[in-house]
Amino acid sequence: MSSNKIKKAVENLKATYNTNNPFVICEHLGITVRERNFNETRKAYFVSIYGQPSITINSNYIEKSKNILCAHELGHIILGHTGVNNFESENQEAEREANLFALYMLFDEDDFDMKFENMTSYLIKYTLDRNIKLASKY
Ligand SMILES: [Zn+2]
Repeated sequence: MSSNKIKKAVENLKATYNTNNPFVICEHLGITVRERNFNETRKAYFVSIYGQPSITINSNYIEKSKNILCAHELGHIILGHTGVNNFESENQEAEREANLFALYMLFDEDDFDMKFENMTSYLIKYTLDRNIKLASKY
C-alpha cells in the first residue's frame, strides 16, 4: 500500500473523530483495547474473532508508548492486515505500513527533517522505538 494511502486513511480517521488518540478512535470503531501485565518482551498484539478485532497492550509501558503500540495495532486492523498480529511480526511490509500509520497518527511531519513517506522502514521504526519505554520499575 502506498504511503499516501496510509496518510489519507489516518487523516480521515482524525477528521472523522476529531482526535489523534488511538484509544478514543478504537472506542468509536468498537475495537476493544485491553491491557495485560506481560513480561517486557511482548509489546502488543491484535486478534480478530468472528470479524471483531480487539487489541491487547502490555500494561508495563509508559502512557506515550501505549499510544504508539495502540496506533500500530489499529493500523494493522484498518489497513486490513491479517496474520500479522504481533507488534513485530515477520511480515516486514505490513510492519512498515503499521509503523507509518502510527507515525502519521501521533507525530507532526513538520517536526522532522524529511517527509515520512521518504523515510526508510528502519528510520520509521527507530523513530517509534525511541519513544517506546517501559515504566521505571523495569
Ligand atoms: Zn505489527
